[in-house]
Amino acid sequence: MTHVHIREVGLRDGLQLVKTLVPAEVKLEWFNDAAAAGVPEIEVTSFVPSHVIPQFADADAVMWGAMGRSGTLASALAVNLKGAQRAYDLGVAKLNYVVSASEEHSLSNVRRTPAVAMEAFYAMVAERKERGLEGSVELSCGVATSFGCSLQGEVAQDEVVRLAVSAAEAGADEIMIADTVGFADPVRVRTLFKAVRDAVGDIPVAAHFHDTRGLGLANVLAAVEVDIHRFDASLGGLGGCPFAPGATGNINTEDTVYLLETMGLSTGIDLEALLALRAKLPGWLPNERIGGSVQRAGIPHLPKSFPSLARAMADPVA
Ligand code: ZN
Repeated sequence: MTHVHIREVGLRDGLQLVKTLVPAEVKLEWFNDAAAAGVPEIEVTSFVPSHVIPQFADADAVMWGAMGRSGTLASALAVNLKGAQRAYDLGVAKLNYVVSASEEHSLSNVRRTPAVAMEAFYAMVAERKERGLEGSVELSCGVATSFGCSLQGEVAQDEVVRLAVSAAEAGADEIMIADTVGFADPVRVRTLFKAVRDAVGDIPVAAHFHDTRGLGLANVLAAVEVDIHRFDASLGGLGGCPFAPGATGNINTEDTVYLLETMGLSTGIDLEALLALRAKLPGWLPNERIGGSVQRAGIPHLPKSFPSLARAMADPVA
């Protein structure tokens, strides 16, 4: 059975614009519940200066609390080499970095061109080598605004592929292609992901979609069709981007798991346990818009809705 790797990004992407400061204990309860539900990777926090995003002032404490749980990869975002150094000091097993393919988005977001932003990734790779952490710390490089950007408009596919190849050649263990502002559609998803996959060779390619215009899950389906088996998703569809006006909401983890399982793909996630965690969100984040169709309607209790689960029950060793 084909396994699809889900990375829960609610604690990072989902919380970065949220005004309510969520206490570290709550973040760890969120992490532990998601891990217990079988989520294989959870992006726990962002190593960013706390004056830039106060929500992540507790990054070290939350990361420390989340690390070392077997069966769950606790990853984090590092926005620059300094952030990566903090993460290396703590012993983080996987670090995610993102460079924006849109020059205007990159300049607004980090005041650096994509080429200069890429140099920070090279520095993170070099530092990993210097510390002898190759093989023990994974580095993922994401390309944001891969399908266009509300500031610049169009982003050339060649530019996205070029950045992905640079990251791969530098030593990235994963390439992540992000539709930061929700401009992607299934036709372009197939074309771009195929182009990136063919250009970077054996390195896994992950997808990060937003549901801004209702195409989030259609884009997941299109990506699966070109053999993409790694997806970012956020519980309750939380998340956005400060420089992408109207870009509210990553794809929803619960709905994504439901889609993939109905397709006969295995996520390893217990959807009922995930929904129990999802039910806590409105209490933790009373001022946020929290969405989700499966949460609203419930899981239909028909084994044929979950062929992979039904097969697993019939054949426990599968
Ligand atoms: Zn996002």
